[in-house]
Amino acid sequence: MDDEEMFSEFGDLLQSGQIVKERWRITKKLGGGGFGEIYEAIDLLTKETVAVKTESAIDNRQVLKMEVAVLKKLKGKPHICKFIGCGKNDRFNYIVMSLQGMNLSDLRRSRPRGAFSLSTTIRLSYQIIQCIKTIHEVGFLHRDIKPSNFTIGKTPDTKRTVYMLDFGLARQYINSQGNVRTPRIEAGFRGTVRYASLNAHKLKELGRHDDLWSWFYMIVEFISGSLPWKKLKDKERIGLMKERCDNWKFLKLLPSEYSDILRHIQELGYFDEPDYDFILECIQSSIHRKGINMSDPFDWERP
Ligand code: ADP
Repeated sequence: MDDEEMFSEFGDLLQSGQIVKERWRITKKLGGGGFGEIYEAIDLLTKETVAVKTESAIDNRQVLKMEVAVLKKLKGKPHICKFIGCGKNDRFNYIVMSLQGMNLSDLRRSRPRGAFSLSTTIRLSYQIIQCIKTIHEVGFLHRDIKPSNFTIGKTPDTKRTVYMLDFGLARQYINSQGNVRTPRIEAGFRGTVRYASLNAHKLKELGRHDDLWSWFYMIVEFISGSLPWKKLKDKERIGLMKERCDNWKFLKLLPSEYSDILRHIQELGYFDEPDYDFILECIQSSIHRKGINMSDPFDWERP
């Protein structure tokens, strides 16, 4: 098939069997994301199975360019998928990357109670902080931290590692001199309402601490199986609920070390650099105190 193939605006950008750039043969559609579609494909050059993420050329929200820029910056770092290629034609832009396993949203929802055990929650929370630290270290905020943007690996040697995905909403927070950029007075809402920080609801310029707030909401959902605003749709009402709720009561199911983490996140402002190592140490202490072993099976690995 070639690029002249008929397609409807609402149909898939690619079909099984189609070959992209004479190299990647599409095998199946993995999902339609917020901005585009994700496909599984065979790399005819290396025989590897890969993921192809596409975005329609006629969509105004072009995010793949940012995704490519950030993935290139993160190349070779732990917790990041391999960047294999990118390109565009008159119908769509695409990015080819290593194929990952299930995302953490699907993994949680496939649990009998819809929640992870304490051991799995704590160990995931550790790896996710490492992911967030990694992107912040190259000068970018993620701005859409949520469970479906993290996966486990697909191969025997990566299946216990958490990978961070989807850099389409990332933003550089440092300028060319290496200083934190001057915050805009008002910024448009970015991200996903359920996990958005209060600052995001208030349309404030987001900083590194806002990625950590989203991490916090994620962890609470992992351990409890839900967040109090799960059933609400309205962004303003969810924002009000986040403003009024007592964050400390979320810690009930988490080890006491997470209070120190919450206190630290609460103290951070836009310009402050989070103390990632302090957060990682707090999590490590809770791991030791609770007698958790890093090599224990994750919930989904148990029979
Ligand atoms: P969007 O920005 O369009 O939402 P994402 O990058 O967030 O797209 O991907 C949506 C979903 O597709 C993810 O939750 C994940 O399950 C799947 N996915 C994305 N990239 C990969 C990949 N490289 N390997 C396997 N699955 C992926």
